[in-house]
Amino acid sequence: MAKLIITGGDIVTMNPGREEIVGGHIVVEDGLITALGPGQGVPDPEAVVIDAAGCVVTPGLINAHQHFTGDPLVACCIPDTITSNEAIFEWAVPIHEHHTADDDEVAATLTALQCLRTGTTTAVEAGTVAHPERVAAGMTAAGIRATLGRWGWDVPDVPYGAPADEVLALQRSLVAGWPAGGRVEGWVTLVGHALASDELLAGAAELSRELGVNLTMHMSPTPDDSAEYRERSGKSAIEHLASLDVLGPNVLIAHAVHLDDAELDLLLEHDVSIAYCPWAYLRLGQGVSISGRHIEFVERGGRLALGADAANAGDHRDLLLTAAVTAGLARDIGYDQFGSANALAHATIEGARAVGMTDRVGSLEVGKAADLVVFDASGLDWGARGDLTMQLVWGNIGSTVRDVIVDGELVIRDRASTKVDEAELIAESRDRKASLLRRAGIDR
Ligand SMILES: [Zn+2]
Repeated sequence: MAKLIITGGDIVTMNPGREEIVGGHIVVEDGLITALGPGQGVPDPEAVVIDAAGCVVTPGLINAHQHFTGDPLVACCIPDTITSNEAIFEWAVPIHEHHTADDDEVAATLTALQCLRTGTTTAVEAGTVAHPERVAAGMTAAGIRATLGRWGWDVPDVPYGAPADEVLALQRSLVAGWPAGGRVEGWVTLVGHALASDELLAGAAELSRELGVNLTMHMSPTPDDSAEYRERSGKSAIEHLASLDVLGPNVLIAHAVHLDDAELDLLLEHDVSIAYCPWAYLRLGQGVSISGRHIEFVERGGRLALGADAANAGDHRDLLLTAAVTAGLARDIGYDQFGSANALAHATIEGARAVGMTDRVGSLEVGKAADLVVFDASGLDWGARGDLTMQLVWGNIGSTVRDVIVDGELVIRDRASTKVDEAELIAESRDRKASLLRRAGIDR
């Protein structure tokens, strides 16, 4: 892999001192950052030089909850005037049921590129994937760093449902196929909610610990999950998981919007992390502004990452918009000290801590993977330029991403993929959308 030197940009490092370097340089060799500092650095005629004058350079953003299949081909199709249960069971489930393996790959490629184009370099797959090998192919084609999750649930009459032992065997083989540390790595992934038996919940946790990988699942975006668990065992959702010994530092729960005091205590006690997708909760009307306790969770030491969720919930993949909503909601409910610096941290280094990847990503530091984003800050969107952190979060500048590097590979150059023909991908996505809706029996 060629040596890269990114030079002339203003670098937002997100290192422990939160240093910003005006007009600095970053050297990338064999996928790693090997030098970083002010000025031009040592010239090397062999290196590929990326002129970042007039640009702002940040670590790649981390999206800790992203659906790569189903929704991407029907983005912004599910009405926003129905309940979230209607959206899931009348739209999302039939669409997933009719998703072919080819659909999976095209949807994953499209999603990965949309993430990259707005500065996300690491994404956690949300676990509604029927053909993981094709999703991995799409992720790899685009060049994103991602976790891969196979669909895991064992309730009756659902697409790709299976008995717990079969689900667990498939999860084991997925992790074997995409081992930890690769650009695409397998995680044990359940759909979650109340859509798993105790055998599957406990077995998945045990499997994830045995394999040394993370476990992720959806839980409590609405009060419904706890209501169902209370009927099942008399316990709330998180208490139920605790009683099965599911909770631990390798568990990433998506959402956790509706928690009681005991549940919040349990998540903190077991060092469980949360993927917070506020844009989706607003779109779906799930009550985050009234019930969400994510900032309290952070203030008490909890690990919080941000997510964009599905293409009919967080209809964009722009993590900086998610960061803005995070800061806005926090401030609106009285957390005056929570500003853009906190939100940007949750989109980068704190996000890395929540997904267990601080050794590799989340900040620009020597020895870390070269996952970074170059924003063209010379145009109208950035204007006269203010405080960099405030402008990154509040300024709606996701569309100014010019170049993106993942693992030292230049995957977006001058606002276009270096690896995928974008026009062809869009044309294919449109064709597939029409036939997918037809097969799912949805007349639009
Ligand atoms: Zn989700």
